Amino acid sequence: MTNTNGEKQLEEIYDICSRLYKDMCGNKRADHSVLFSYLTELGKSLVGADRASFWKWDKFRKELWTTSATGTDRIVIPDNTGLVGKALKEQRVVITNDPYSDPDFNSAVDKKTGYVTKSILVMPIADVNGDFIGALQVINREGGFEEESDVRCLSLAAIVCGITLESETFLENSQHDKLTRLKNRMGFHSDYAKIYSKVLEEGRPLSMFICDIDKFKRVNDTYGHNAGDAVLSFNANILANACADGECVYRWGGEEFIMMMPDTTLEKCVEKAEVIRRIIMVTPCDIGTDTINYTVSFGCRQFDPALSFADNINAADEHLYTAKAEGRNRVIW
Ligand code: GH3
Ligand code: MG
Ligand code: MG
Repeated sequence: MTNTNGEKQLEEIYDICSRLYKDMCGNKRADHSVLFSYLTELGKSLVGADRASFWKWDKFRKELWTTSATGTDRIVIPDNTGLVGKALKEQRVVITNDPYSDPDFNSAVDKKTGYVTKSILVMPIADVNGDFIGALQVINREGGFEEESDVRCLSLAAIVCGITLESETFLENSQHDKLTRLKNRMGFHSDYAKIYSKVLEEGRPLSMFICDIDKFKRVNDTYGHNAGDAVLSFNANILANACADGECVYRWGGEEFIMMMPDTTLEKCVEKAEVIRRIIMVTPCDIGTDTINYTVSFGCRQFDPALSFADNINAADEHLYTAKAEGRNRVIW
């Protein structure tokens, strides 16, 4: 590489890094694909390749999927396929400078897009525990790839991609409930700071309900804990499907959920809770061996901006308590 080329490349890298930094500091986005697109661009520039993609390994689903890739839409493949699958399985860098004669090369993307792959380098990426979590792939470099020098060039992008993916996964897991896949209390606090507090600051109405499955202990005792889990997931689905744009439901605790409704008055909130209560009452949960009928009690509240969110939720909780005391399967506000 001549000096001028080297300087030009360095300028390009500084440029990507400064955009990445600005983007991270002004982080208002819900998905992180922009972040990963900068990082793959960085990988591409560091090694002088034509394309790059960053792959996330979903070990639970046994899938590999691109968080960001130049020139194609998101791709999902089984984790035992392709050169990325090979690099992760064998836990080593995989290079081919003649992909069409490599049996592990998957030419489907080329066939679909008309692109011609001439050389590939795949670098597996580990988290801080040393467990592999994804891979950085770069494609088509003048003269092909050479392991020692290219891995050295790419390592910066690989490290940052790994740390970013790890923190994204960690954040995602900490704010979601594994069973119902709804956001949990941590997710609520994050959304409250980002979204709901602004609704109140702007003087817009904000309502919520807290709801709790009636006599849920009996479901567990009668049908078993797995059936109880199935009812929780089923109920979470009903609530999630009832969310309009801007509304969101959270698993607040065991069999308690809350729904947040920006730009909604108490009257509309109560109407909505009533519709959902009736849907749940007439929709039994099918667990294969049985169908389980259950009901839910609701406490509704329009936020008082003068009170803390905890006091507002406590007020809704008191209505829920009244709903239980008055016989359950009802909406109180
Ligand atoms: P109430 O109508 O007064 O709300 O009665 P309840 O039986 O629903 O309330 P209680 O608080 O006595 O029992 C709640 C039960 O929910 C007890 C707990 O074991 C169960 N539970 C909490 N989380 C889970 C879970 O993740 N899965 C299952 N299967 N059960 C859970
Ligand atoms: Mg209950
Ligand atoms: Mg409860």
